[in-house]
Amino acid sequence: MKAQELLSLLASGLEAAAHAHTASNLGDRRTYLGMSDLARGLTCPRAVVARKLNGEPTSLSLETLLQLRRGHWLEYGVEEALTAAGQKFISQLEISIEHNGVPIKAHLDLLIFDEEAKAVTVIELKSVGRLRDHVYGSHEAQLYGQLGLLHRYWSQAVFANNVFVKGSSLPACSEYCSFSELASRQLGVQLPKDADSVSIHGFVLTVAPQSAKAFGPYAPNDEVLKVLFQTGAGLWSHMEEIRSGRADLGQVAYQQGFDPLCDWCGHNRDCPKFQGDSHPALEPELSALADLKAARSRLEEEIKEREEQLKAIAAIMGKSGQWISGNRYRFKVSRMPGRATIDQHLLKSSLGQLKQVDENQLDSLLSSAQKISRPFERLQLSPIH
Ligand code: SF4
Repeated sequence: MKAQELLSLLASGLEAAAHAHTASNLGDRRTYLGMSDLARGLTCPRAVVARKLNGEPTSLSLETLLQLRRGHWLEYGVEEALTAAGQKFISQLEISIEHNGVPIKAHLDLLIFDEEAKAVTVIELKSVGRLRDHVYGSHEAQLYGQLGLLHRYWSQAVFANNVFVKGSSLPACSEYCSFSELASRQLGVQLPKDADSVSIHGFVLTVAPQSAKAFGPYAPNDEVLKVLFQTGAGLWSHMEEIRSGRADLGQVAYQQGFDPLCDWCGHNRDCPKFQGDSHPALEPELSALADLKAARSRLEEEIKEREEQLKAIAAIMGKSGQWISGNRYRFKVSRMPGRATIDQHLLKSSLGQLKQVDENQLDSLLSSAQKISRPFERLQLSPIH
């Protein structure tokens, strides 16, 4: 077998595994709105409607396939850790409801139970290339939606889980039942029949190759759930109108501002956001720039990785703060003070507590303290799918 054949085999296997996983765990996604659709619909309804009606592009690159499957591999890893830590949990819980005629399903990655404390913790897992300081709004909205459904529909027969619980002799729970019934049948955990008697919280757990970060805890929030339901109603009515020929995709609103997800959107080819002149002759220039940018980010990642390795080596040698020499190069790991910047929100809220300063004075204080650099030109490069 040649190296390229091995990579092609890997790509086709990953694609087949992704299809099989979607079919067995998520069913036909065109027939309902998932919680991630509702969360995505808050910023770009067109992306959701296009994906629901036309599906995703059929051939994905190995890079994209690996990125998509990494999330599922992560689930197995976290499940293994929870099992080893002796936690009672279930994975892939499905909540299936209909709200004002709109079929909605949520698939919760993990739920950890604390029977004694009468507490349930929902974990929304996200596999990322690198950790960030903040959580994406759409991930937060997705988790809020899951917590909201869990709280609101707790006692109704809308919960199912056809994943066999590791280490449990109890059967999978593929028929819909109430949440307390499901917890009892699947894990033998006894929970109150009323959601208000239980502590329900959730975290967005982001995991990168080197580390992990948990955002939360979040609690059920009826207002956010209401907004998600309204978004779902809008998306569903667009889908029905387009299916019946009364409207087309061009009439669905799209994200006007910058959105990093446009680069990943399978329906960006004819998106009105990118309307403009076509000049195929520029393609070699654009491809070269795209390749260079990709090479730069790979290089930056490699530099970071090597720096981390050397920092770890210096720490193991007990030589932090001292020069360590090779033949042609030497290095030193120093502890630097953090960079001083102004947190405008914090400053505004602290100044706002001084009763004599009103909102307008605050704004003028902040703008007089602001230093604005000279305007510059930015070149945005975006892949077409
Ligand atoms: S390209 Fe961007 S704006 Fe257009 S549909 Fe996709 S996500 Fe929305």
